Amino acid sequence: MPNGGPGNSPGALEKEANSAGMTKTIEDRIPEYIRGISPYVPGKPVEEVERELKIHAVKLASNENPLGPSPLAVEAARVALASANRYPDGGGFYLREKLSKRLGVPAGNILLGNGTSELIDLAARCMLRPGEEAITSEGSFPLYSISIRAAGGRLVLVPQREYTFDLEAITRAVTPRTRLVYLSNPNNPTGTMFKADALDEFLDRVPPDVLVVLDEAYFEYVEQPGYSRSLDSVRAGKSLLVLRTFSKVYGLAGIRMGYGIGPAALLDQINKFRAPFNTSGIAQAAALAALDDAEHVRRSQESNRAGLGQLAEGLRREGLRFVPSVANFVLVELDTDAQPVANELLGRGVIVRPMRWMGFPNAVRVSVGTADENRKFLAEIGAALDALGVKRRDAAGQLR
Ligand SMILES: *Cc1c(COP(=O)(O)O)cnc(C)c1O
Repeated sequence: MPNGGPGNSPGALEKEANSAGMTKTIEDRIPEYIRGISPYVPGKPVEEVERELKIHAVKLASNENPLGPSPLAVEAARVALASANRYPDGGGFYLREKLSKRLGVPAGNILLGNGTSELIDLAARCMLRPGEEAITSEGSFPLYSISIRAAGGRLVLVPQREYTFDLEAITRAVTPRTRLVYLSNPNNPTGTMFKADALDEFLDRVPPDVLVVLDEAYFEYVEQPGYSRSLDSVRAGKSLLVLRTFSKVYGLAGIRMGYGIGPAALLDQINKFRAPFNTSGIAQAAALAALDDAEHVRRSQESNRAGLGQLAEGLRREGLRFVPSVANFVLVELDTDAQPVANELLGRGVIVRPMRWMGFPNAVRVSVGTADENRKFLAEIGAALDALGVKRRDAAGQLR
């Protein structure tokens, strides 16, 4: 029945359903493109595991900062809590001003979000009409696919090359119906990156009416030369929305604050339909203070660098293959279904994420923890594989 016709009244709907010989439910009325979405699988909360198994557990499952938040951010949040009877500044004036100075882009090119996750979704809602196409890579962050499908868009998944976004292939997948592309750099869950030169070439080849969303959630961890100059492209007026977050190096995943840097014309439109108070005053205050704690960021980067080295060395010693990572997590290939291994690890008090749902059925993703947590993971993954009788490779590459 056409929209706006008599079919919109409940009575008529009922009649329509009855005449078809069945009663419709709410679920029947939810579009197939929503019902077909595979749910996001969050990491298990450490409290839940400890309650169920009555053991101490380490959580290396959600790429969180193992050092915790900046004490300055915690104090600022505590102070802001005292004004929690008031609605926050929905425009996040002070935080956007601070980010503007820090990044060298006008505040009008910055949009705050309830985590980067919200901005991923808002981009799809802004750009996609049902049936239009959006592209992302296989083996990447599930929220891109979920947001495309929730907006009714047609999801186009491009295979990876050696665990990395294949920008060439994505360019070839662009059609006149493409409106949106999601890129993750570094990519979650593989920990790989593409260089600034490759992005520049990509942006030159993608038509200007296609929005490229570049998720740089792990930006602050990357130390490789030539990694990113994405903000130059925003300044140059490219159709690019760069996403960053306070959830990772700043250690504020629980407070929900992310930001996008992109064309003012796009952000103006998104600002019209986003929730007016999408970021809390507490989150804004914590983020402002976190930006001032350069020492905490530096310690977090240093700890991560050491942890990546510790995990790489330990995994090699254990005879396990992994994808070299530039971020704060490592994808470990086990040559066997990873779910039982993850379950076994859970029983031993180590929470990692089996990656079938992200496209790697034989891999787990382990987040870089503190030195003690990494040590515990390395000891227990060896024990878990032995307990399950999974073979590993010795120094000569022989399965044993
Ligand atoms: C962790 C992560 C984010 C951050 O999401 P928030 O909503 O800001 O917590 C964004 N993108 C990717 C790929 C991530 O792994």
